[in-house]
Amino acid sequence: MKVVLQDLTKKFPGRGKNAQQEVVAVDGFTFEIPDGKLVGLLGPSGCGKSTTLNLLCGLLKPTSGKIFFGEDDVTGLPAEKRGVGLVFQNYALYPHLTVLQNILFPLQNLRGRERPAKEEMLRRAKEAADLVQIGELLDRRPSELSGGQQQRVAIARALVKMPRVLLLDEPLSNLDARLRLQTREEIRRIQRETGITTVFVTHDQDEAMSISDIIVVMKNGVVQQIDKPQAVYDDPSNLFVAQFLGTPPIHVFNGRVEGGRLYIGNQAVLPAPGLPDQPVTAAVRPEGFALDEQGPLACNLTRVEIMGRDISVVCTHPDCENTAIRAIISAENRVDTAQPTVRFSLKPGKVFLFTADTQARLRPAQEG
Ligand code: ADP
Ligand code: MG
Repeated sequence: MKVVLQDLTKKFPGRGKNAQQEVVAVDGFTFEIPDGKLVGLLGPSGCGKSTTLNLLCGLLKPTSGKIFFGEDDVTGLPAEKRGVGLVFQNYALYPHLTVLQNILFPLQNLRGRERPAKEEMLRRAKEAADLVQIGELLDRRPSELSGGQQQRVAIARALVKMPRVLLLDEPLSNLDARLRLQTREEIRRIQRETGITTVFVTHDQDEAMSISDIIVVMKNGVVQQIDKPQAVYDDPSNLFVAQFLGTPPIHVFNGRVEGGRLYIGNQAVLPAPGLPDQPVTAAVRPEGFALDEQGPLACNLTRVEIMGRDISVVCTHPDCENTAIRAIISAENRVDTAQPTVRFSLKPGKVFLFTADTQARLRPAQEG
């Protein structure tokens, strides 16, 4: 089931002292979630991810705009008629019910012709439990389960009604690091096996990168970029996206374009053909630095950190906004830590230019 958001906007009235100032939580969202895909909504806390999800499931009504499931306009449809499965950060299981009763609950709530026969309910509940691999835990109560198991029960409960769309709001946030990894792979597997169109909300870029077919990066209720995970990293549309993705974070330099070349300080560090002279922001990925004794970028060497396969050259530069530069290079390299200065050349594919004022991407002409 393809899902379409058409110029979707949600405003909340201001409260208390700021009563005049309404919050635009979701501002003119227009995009399509292709049938059977997993879309990651990624952005910092407060950027409107949960609001978007609540609009999709019908818990909130949009201020303007439309939502389509397939060809159906569902904008005015109440939540229970939309056929969505919901999973939240806190598993919200009924503590007094067993796992099986929890999973059965949405089916038992159905009325009239929609309500399956008892045996059919049981069959579907067990099928959902098997899918999330908790088939042996059906008689336990939530308090007798680990966090990861509780979240699986919540996913089974969302799947049992065979939803047209599955919506997950930071479902892994309450799990410890190892379980988080394991459960996100599980969710990916379940999504592939069922082919249910899924929206996965997270503020964690690693999580979004690893699980999504498509990532929607958001900031202050505005979509910044919609792309495949690798493209969001390799080809960010603005400085916010470039900074939001990647660990260690991207390095931001104040530079300028002059005569078709990028300058940082007094040094021309890269060609920038076709761009008019102007001040620019130049952002360099940690893997974009190459040790080069003749290199144009001279940095003050702080120390070298060994990380096994790679080493991290920690240094500073007066035109870099980051307090420390971390250049990640292969451990086969040697850096003389007795020297005060380390020189780099920059890899063109790992350097992005943005206008100094709006921070929109600038693209030099292709060479050759
Ligand atoms: P996220 O899930 O990305 O952290 P939310 O969608 O929860 O963000 O919130 C987006 C913005 O809308 C925030 O500024 C939040 O304070 C505001 N907001 C969310 N829900 C309400 C509400 N019911 N009333 C007023 N403001 C709200
Ligand atoms: Mg949220």
